[in-house]
Order: sequence, then C-alpha cells, then structure tokens
Amino acid sequence: MDKIKIRGLEFDNVTMDEALEKAEGFIERGEQCVIFTPNAEIVQMAIEDESFHALVSSADMLIPDGAGVVLASKIMKKPLKAKVPGCELAERLVKNSAEGKYKIFFYGSKPTTEAGPSVAELANKNMSEKYPGFEAAGFSHGYVKPDGYDALIENINSSGADILFVCLGVPMQEKWIAEHRDRINAKLIIGLGGTLDVFAGTVKRAPKFFVKANLEWLYRLIKEPRRIGRMMKLPKFIFGAIFIKEKD
Ligand code: UDP
Repeated sequence: MDKIKIRGLEFDNVTMDEALEKAEGFIERGEQCVIFTPNAEIVQMAIEDESFHALVSSADMLIPDGAGVVLASKIMKKPLKAKVPGCELAERLVKNSAEGKYKIFFYGSKPTTEAGPSVAELANKNMSEKYPGFEAAGFSHGYVKPDGYDALIENINSSGADILFVCLGVPMQEKWIAEHRDRINAKLIIGLGGTLDVFAGTVKRAPKFFVKANLEWLYRLIKEPRRIGRMMKLPKFIFGAIFIKEKD
C-alpha cells in the first residue's frame, strides 16, 4: 500500500530510499510538494485539535518521523515499512545537493549561536565541510517578524532554491508553509523542526544506542525535561492505537 491512514492522517508507506526518490520526483516533474514529518506527539496533537489535523492533512507527503507512529501502525495491523526521520531525509537531500542535483534554502532556528553566526549559517558551514560541493542557496534565521515575510520570500525565490527547509518547530512551521506555499517557487517545502540545530551541532542527536532501541524520545526528555508535557501525548497516542478502531 502506498499510503496508510493513522488516525485520519495519510502517511506515505515508504523506506528512507523511497521517500527520497518520491520527493525528488516532484522536483523533476516541476510539481510543488509539501512534506510534513509528524511523530507520535504531533499526531496526538492533531487528534486533539481539528484545525491542526486539517493543517497536517494539507501536506502532499507525510512521513513517519518517529518509532511511535510505526509502532501504532503495527498495533493497528496496517504496518508502515519504516520510520523515516526528517533530519535524516534532510541530510540525504543535502548530500545529493552537493552533487549538483538541486539547491536548498535553510530557513529557521536562532539568529545567533555561541560561536557568533546564526544556527542556519553554521548548519550551512558544517554541511559544506561534510559534503564538499554543498552550499545552501541561502539561509535565514527563524525569528523573522510577519512584516518581514515579503522580503524573506523574495530572498528565497531569488536564491533559485529548488528545496526549502522550514525549521520553526511545530505547529509554527506547518502554519507558515500552508500560508505561504503559493508564493514560493521551491518545489519541495519541508517542515523539519530542529534539523538545523542538529546540522549546526547546537543540539545533539541521541547516541546510536538510543536510536537503535527506539528511545530517542527518552534521550530528548533527559536533555530537555521541559518537554514532558508534550511527551505525555506519546502514551496517549499508543493507547488510542490499541483501543480505537479505524474503518480503513
Ligand atoms: N524556532 C524558530 N522560530 C520561532 C520558534 C522556534 O526558528 O519563532 C526554532 C528553534 O530555534 C528551533 C526549532 O524552531 O531551532 C524548533 O525545534 P524543535 O526541535 O523544538 O522542533 P519540534 O520538536 O517542535 O519539531
């Protein structure tokens, strides 16, 4: 099955390679594609908030960012093939961009870091060192005020970017993308949360052990205990998957 419905959201049933291929297909065909990357918390947020549910559903591709969504799909007996972490998909796109396939614009995250430049600028520097040949088409921090959006969009469009990474956190990035996608020339627009922080090294991804054991959420909770409120949505989501019967 191409798509699998989890609590009313149509997830793409893809491996990482297939997600990449499908996303690149939109660029090749010149069609615009918005990708959101909901994890279990975000699906639960959508279950609890109808307007956010509609916003998430407006994406052309939904990929399951975390192990929680895949677990729920198995409990509901319509298993998704794999978790496809947004930041890994983003890095694969960066790698292919370094080979000259297309250009990427980084938008989001803090305007300054301890080292000085913005997180987005540092992310660009690190990625160009890791993938020689890579250079972002442009970048902007994520604290632009609404009266600066016209200039920002002009900047994104004139950069000639084929892909736009929007890293403003949930639900701000989904709202921003839905509101402005029609004015953006980039073919692929992806909501990617803290990905630029990971690229810049200002936030560390969990060590391999946590990733393999599907415990990235636990590592994140240890590092950022203030996320506990949000994370309580995870068990709620799993209970929902056990007890709620969906028609398809
Ligand atoms: N952020 C931003 N603009 C804002 C609020 C947040 O650019 O007005 C950035 C923030 O600096 C961080 C990212 O959005 O880089 C949120 O990352 P997080 O990992 O919390 O994302 P989520 O888990 O919500 O997807």
